[in-house]
Amino acid sequence: MASPTVGVLALQGDVREHLAALSAAGVRAVPVRREAELAAVDGLVLPGGESTTMSTLLGVFELLEPLRARLAEGLPAYGSCAGMILLASEVLDGRPDQQQLGGLDVVVRRNAFGRQVDSFETDLEVTGVEGGPVRAVFIRAPWVEKVGAEVEVLGSVPHVEQAGESAGRAVAVRQGTVLATAFHPELTGDGRVHKLFADIVREG
Ligand code: GLN
Repeated sequence: MASPTVGVLALQGDVREHLAALSAAGVRAVPVRREAELAAVDGLVLPGGESTTMSTLLGVFELLEPLRARLAEGLPAYGSCAGMILLASEVLDGRPDQQQLGGLDVVVRRNAFGRQVDSFETDLEVTGVEGGPVRAVFIRAPWVEKVGAEVEVLGSVPHVEQAGESAGRAVAVRQGTVLATAFHPELTGDGRVHKLFADIVREG
């Protein structure tokens, strides 16, 4: 696919930053709020924000089932932070009524970093991202506690002193055409993770 259209779920969260990062990665980037808009994209970004709010709004906008169906059919997707939580098959410390989209066979712990500090930054290597470590910004972020057999861990928190309990935790994962990071590459101006996702969409 030479020039795919990639949507950003635009119910809540840092939509604009993802649209800008996708445009910079050379794809057509569009906001998605309606089922018809979802049907027209070749890939979808689930932004950072608040997963419980997005979960409620997915119900209000009647996007829950259409989105689950497209993910089950293999729609390439990239979730950052809250987006990772939405894609996960299971969430620890979630709100009981919080809905999961599936697509990523992982168990994540919500607000995992928040138990020690609200935000944390570090450099970490991400498999598939060339050119040195990525600056990872964690904002009340989840981490991945368990991965299914088909999930590849692309990056983990390095064992630096400030990492505390998060040291060694998986924070970037991929399962086929589904990518997720607990951190926010859309906030740093480093376009390499979005470029990786754009390549996944082009190949997918
Ligand atoms: N804590 C948020 C949640 O549960 C995620 C925070 C973020 O996306 N920066 O969805």
